[in-house]
Amino acid sequence: MHISTPHDSGNIRVLAADDPNDIRLEIVRDGEADHRQWFHFRVTGAKGVPLTLRLVNAHACSYPKAWDGYRAVYSSDRETWLREPATSYEDGALVIQHTPSADVVWFAYFAPYSLDRHDQLLATCQQSDRVQLERLGATVDGLDLDMLRVGEPGEGKRVYWVIARQHPGESMAEWWMEGFLARLLDPADGQARRLLEGAVLYVVPNMNPDGSRRGHLRTNAAGANLNREWHGPTREKSPEVFHVLHRMSETGVDLCLDVHGDEELPYNFVSGAEGIPGWTDRLAELQRSFLQAYMDATPDFQVEYGYGVDAPGEANLTMCTNQIAERFDCLAMTLEMPFKDSAITPDEEQGWSPDRAMRLGEDVLLPMVRVLPHLR
Ligand code: ZN
Repeated sequence: MHISTPHDSGNIRVLAADDPNDIRLEIVRDGEADHRQWFHFRVTGAKGVPLTLRLVNAHACSYPKAWDGYRAVYSSDRETWLREPATSYEDGALVIQHTPSADVVWFAYFAPYSLDRHDQLLATCQQSDRVQLERLGATVDGLDLDMLRVGEPGEGKRVYWVIARQHPGESMAEWWMEGFLARLLDPADGQARRLLEGAVLYVVPNMNPDGSRRGHLRTNAAGANLNREWHGPTREKSPEVFHVLHRMSETGVDLCLDVHGDEELPYNFVSGAEGIPGWTDRLAELQRSFLQAYMDATPDFQVEYGYGVDAPGEANLTMCTNQIAERFDCLAMTLEMPFKDSAITPDEEQGWSPDRAMRLGEDVLLPMVRVLPHLR
């Protein structure tokens, strides 16, 4: 038996792998920062052998409470990721009991979204005559930071920005993007046509390619949590945010959606910018309308469970949603999806999954269309 880390988004350190009943592993911290929770590794040569895998430093991860009610995902074809019900959190360790049905099986915190798939997404999208692919700049590691412009800018057109995966371990955010873009670029889709008649969209499918490739949970290659950099990003520490914010200042922003995953809460929900100094009734009404339309579009979205709302003036302006809402006096929101499952619409086999994240991405067109006439 052998345990190894994939070259793309792999994360595990092997402490002991001689006894199938007592495999001890550690989650590796983000290179330059004290964050860890994402794991992704491969087990070879254990077909038919009952395994007990212990991630012994689960208690020292960024969100230890998140392990309660969590089930690891595994796959032998890297297409379908199933939940292992025999996952538990015991004595500070995440314990996964599993008998592989194939020679190689992969385990991960959530279904990975690889940089290969990211490149394929860009390549597929640029085949559409609605799309212009633009390289905004380089990441800390020197990778390309790419943006898709969908539709044509023009007089009276509203400007939408949609970004995902500032936190690279939140791979569901890029699965969401794949569904969102597929529908947006479908010439037969009426809502997409309606949206593009009145808006141009700037889309960054992956804000943090470095962290994605390195198997980080929360930071880029310089150790920066990109969603705490929006007040004053720098080329050295947070070029990803620097380039996007620069481009936003050129285009203006009428609506901004920042897509994430939440480790603890088993719900899809939105967090708004209620705590910014410039919060107004206009923004509150826009947000209410958007959220109602998202609920109309899918039972997987809800507003009952989520983060608490910031008190007036208490917003953290280092975060994308707050900074953009304040700076551009626009509707800006953070969308959170679960690592675990949607508790109001659960799926026993897969939990929250790539398929469901993609559908939630498709479903966002309705709320985007609903608020379009009222954004300015
Ligand atoms: Zn996040």
